[in-house]
Amino acid sequence: GVRGARLYSEEDPLTILTSDTLKETLRNSSTAWLIQFYSSWCGHCIQYSPTWKALAGDVKDWEQAIRIGVLDCAHEKNFEICKEFGIHFYPTFRYFKAHSSSSDIGKTYRADRELQTVRQLMVNFLQNHTRDDWPAGCPPLEPARSADILSLMGLKTDHYTAVIIEDEDSYVGREVILDLMAYDGVIVRRVLNTERTFMEKLGISSVPAAYLFRPNGTHKLMDVQKSLRFFFSSFLKLLPGVRRKQGPSALENAGGSRGQDSVEVWKEFDKSKVYMADMESGLHYLFRVELASHQTLEGEELKTFKDFVTVVAKLFPGRQSVVKLLETLLEWLVSLPLERIPYDAILDLVNNKMRISGMFLSEKLQWVGCQGSRPELRGYPCSLWTLFHTLTVQASLRPDALANTGLEEDPLAVLQTMRRYIRSFFGCRECGQHFEAMAKESLEQVKSLDEAVLWLWRKHNQVNSRLAGALSEDPHFPKTQWPTPDLCPACHEEQEGLHVWNENKVLAFLKQHYSSGNISPKYTS
Ligand code: FAD
Repeated sequence: GVRGARLYSEEDPLTILTSDTLKETLRNSSTAWLIQFYSSWCGHCIQYSPTWKALAGDVKDWEQAIRIGVLDCAHEKNFEICKEFGIHFYPTFRYFKAHSSSSDIGKTYRADRELQTVRQLMVNFLQNHTRDDWPAGCPPLEPARSADILSLMGLKTDHYTAVIIEDEDSYVGREVILDLMAYDGVIVRRVLNTERTFMEKLGISSVPAAYLFRPNGTHKLMDVQKSLRFFFSSFLKLLPGVRRKQGPSALENAGGSRGQDSVEVWKEFDKSKVYMADMESGLHYLFRVELASHQTLEGEELKTFKDFVTVVAKLFPGRQSVVKLLETLLEWLVSLPLERIPYDAILDLVNNKMRISGMFLSEKLQWVGCQGSRPELRGYPCSLWTLFHTLTVQASLRPDALANTGLEEDPLAVLQTMRRYIRSFFGCRECGQHFEAMAKESLEQVKSLDEAVLWLWRKHNQVNSRLAGALSEDPHFPKTQWPTPDLCPACHEEQEGLHVWNENKVLAFLKQHYSSGNISPKYTS
């Protein structure tokens, strides 16, 4: 049967190949390829697919040098091509050099269960290229000459240079080089620890270590909590001025809007804080713009709206004037026996009636932690995530807050309300569909208020990973797995070379980050 046969989908960070595309893709490709020929009925292939997806996600930023693909040999359409490529067993892993010819059927390598081994193999594959067939987008991977690096001291340039000093057998340096290849503003090199004088000059005693030369000519040891690939890479991606390279279409877009919009003054902010101005602006937009496009609320929509107001009124750790407004709105909604409410009546309440009694929701969009480098970026969706993370955390910190609302018994109350709000009202349809699919798949497994906090965190990271490099990404705020190591070093660990989360630490961090004590009132009017 076809059902359940698809081990990989378009959502996965890899390329799904077929008989129509395989040869065309490989012939004279500017990147190398690692392709798994699998069969959707082979049990081992099924078991291996999460590993393969994890690998593809792990090396997604390397795709201008080497890419990951899959081809399903059990699909009728692919019978011939699998025969032509001599695939006898599943899965078969084949490596193809960049610029290979159309008769090249690749080199088989032995599959390994360990991602780290496969990743290191990919580095070796890349280094097997010669000067002539080197993948165009791939930065140099051989060790740099220490004299060249030392000549950077005091030199002013337009970029950072990071140097990983390490043992010859270590892969960390080359992995970090590849991790940063999709970014502008930083160049990464490796130097071997056999260069004794170099090490002495920079004051390095243990490896791997990283040293940073700044554009202004100053330099120092890179300050990371753990000497791991993920920590080095994440540190470099977050340097001011380092940004993801953009495709041609993104650049066109940027050019179009530059200079036309009124320039907002940049507001300094601290990314370890949550800003009340973002959440209030989000609520302002939600009540006055997003919901206001609905003329009347009735049936399922009205119920969703009521639950949303309930959850926000009870859990939002806002300023008094705002919480009061939400509570009054809730009382009014509950007291109305109507089955349909014209939205104008709600707007009237929010805009006018309440103003008189000092209840008041800002009428200005004032993005702070959610401000974008261009007006069309970030803003509202960012504030909505912020609001819902805050609400799940508040629910777990104050489990009695929803008493007597009809929602008190349900650890999923906040998430289900969010899900229904997004489905019925969130202006971005596609976002809603993605979110709904994620909720359908795993929301039912959430059994406690703490698990609800972690579920939303995990799903948000899934969205971040899907959107990394997309047009909607603000180049100044690259989509990363969050919290980054600078915010929570203890959240990050490495197991067998692969980054893993310490979820207990993540939970503790989220409960601190989205607690009222960490919400800054700065820039609220
Ligand atoms: P955001 O992703 O909006 O994050 C806001 C802030 O939350 C970050 O600055 C950070 O401080 C914090 N944060 C980041 N990750 C986490 C985490 N894992 N846990 C807790 N806090 C975190 N856009 C699309 O183009 N396609 C989609 O399918 C799509 N689906 C969406 C679904 C939902 C439910 C929502 C609310 C938004 C969706 N968006 C989608 C918008 C997109 O996710 C971003 O909100 C938008 O691109 C702005 O990104 P941002 O850089 O401001 O960061």
